[in-house]
Amino acid sequence: MVHSKCVKGRKDISIRDIWEAKKRISSMIYKTPLIQSAVLSEKMGRRVFLKLENVQEIGAFKVRGAANKILSLSTEARGRGIATYSTGNHGLAVAYVAKMLGIEAVVCLSNRVPRAKVDSLKRLGAKIEIYGDSQDAAGERCYELERKEGLTVIQPFDDPYVIAGQGTIGLELLEELPNLTDVIVPLSGGGLLSGVGLAVKSNDRGIRVSGVCMEKSAVMYESLKAGKPVLLEESETLADSLLGGIGQDNSYTFRIVQEYMDNAYLISEEEIAYSMAFMIDKHRMIMEGAAATGVAAVLGGKIPRQEGDVAVIISGHNVDLSVIHRVIQEYVICNEDSE
Ligand SMILES: *Cc1c(COP(=O)(O)O)cnc(C)c1O
Repeated sequence: MVHSKCVKGRKDISIRDIWEAKKRISSMIYKTPLIQSAVLSEKMGRRVFLKLENVQEIGAFKVRGAANKILSLSTEARGRGIATYSTGNHGLAVAYVAKMLGIEAVVCLSNRVPRAKVDSLKRLGAKIEIYGDSQDAAGERCYELERKEGLTVIQPFDDPYVIAGQGTIGLELLEELPNLTDVIVPLSGGGLLSGVGLAVKSNDRGIRVSGVCMEKSAVMYESLKAGKPVLLEESETLADSLLGGIGQDNSYTFRIVQEYMDNAYLISEEEIAYSMAFMIDKHRMIMEGAAATGVAAVLGGKIPRQEGDVAVIISGHNVDLSVIHRVIQEYVICNEDSE
């Protein structure tokens, strides 16, 4: 009864899968705006564009991958229900899509997930299970639900349908930016970078794909250095959406990120905080820490100055008001000091 694509073992993901995803999810996602940032363009001496995934219904891009995966499930599987574990945005995406399709969804979370995210999940009608203090512990609980109750686990990143769904962002970038030479992608499990990398490089191998992570617990970054998936302790970070392991038995994203990522940049907590406040100050735009890592790479002069247009994926805006309050306060004090 398994669809050929779901058979254990690896399926190659191609640009065709991304085109199929585009068609499959079109009624459930927004084709998001792409705007040029005057301030960032001036700083870099190149045109810098922001791909605003924060305008998706759940405030982050993850609805693309979740919709592509869930819409590809059989009627029986949908009837049994779905489950997921997530630092928040993937959980929101799964809950949202499940609600739209009338499917029951259970979300397993670690106790590190911010309160605002837990509340929004509840509002979307998901059943919440708080389990352990790492994403890996929440994940184990999720697979137990799969074994014992027949729910289908919707993987946050290491799944061909999820990767293809996130890749639709790459198709939109190609369509809108014929002179695209750099894409800057916040990186955690690597579903976003894998999909976008596959899409843009299938058009032009020369488009540089840069991954950005926070300095603390940069699991994919350290795994690539080690040549295999590594485990790291999770620590407090403003980029909480980038927390989580990549899975010791990673089947897709480790290999694809290894092949398609040209550069990786680590961003400090100070740089993330500054970039969040900077975007509120200069763009009147709220973004979460994970999304601000891309802006920080531009502001920190990390992206080499060459020709062509740069796209920064603004991956989401789900951040507690208390955090926004704090980063603005620090920013205002720093600006006063420097005057
Ligand atoms: C999930 C997420 C990321 C990272 O995506 P991966 O596919 O796990 O690499 C980046 N930004 C935000 C806001 C996210 O929710």
